[in-house]
Amino acid sequence: MARYTGPVCKLCRREKQKLFLKGSKCLSEKCPIENKNYPPGQHGLSRRAKFSEYGVQLREKQKVKRVYGLLETQFRNLFEKANRQKGVTGENLIKLLERRLDNVVFRLGFAPSRKSARQLVLHRHFLVNGRTVDIPSYMVNPGDVISVRDKSKKLDAIHSSLRRTKDGIYNWLSVDKAKLTGSFVQIPEREEIPLNANEQLIVELYSK
Ligand code: SF4
Repeated sequence: MARYTGPVCKLCRREKQKLFLKGSKCLSEKCPIENKNYPPGQHGLSRRAKFSEYGVQLREKQKVKRVYGLLETQFRNLFEKANRQKGVTGENLIKLLERRLDNVVFRLGFAPSRKSARQLVLHRHFLVNGRTVDIPSYMVNPGDVISVRDKSKKLDAIHSSLRRTKDGIYNWLSVDKAKLTGSFVQIPEREEIPLNANEQLIVELYSK
């Protein structure tokens, strides 16, 4: 599956906010947003973009897409799925994004960012309900148990990430750091998900 391989800090600068794409660097003084909070490129500092309604919707979509590390086709497909579900489409979309296995691995603290969670999943380090799953887009269901495969239990990347993760941040997840196991207790409500985005703008964009 294709993925974005360019410089990720530029993506944050484009959106003029932290998207937390690089793990611990995002919380350190090395984060470029701290002293370069303007769009990248030669005219990034001088150009003051005035966004049209379309531009505002587009930026919101790009932001959410980048936070979760998806390319356009994957994101659009997920939107179509959200649109077919009952309820509010924008909320459905965010909930579907949250249920992706790479996101759940990241939220559980097994990886410092979604990008490294994706790598760990692809390298077959995780089990879902006891079975190896190496598909980052795998949809996790309420009650599913995500665990580190026996062979991977000594992986320093996982332990160092867990050491830096605070306990009990998300009430829809539970994690047992000693056993390297976590569970997806329930699908979170939109207001519980820490994502600074107006998903309704994405719905409007795709409905044009
Ligand atoms: Fe974004 Fe993290 Fe880079 Fe800062 S360090 S610009 S938050 S990816």
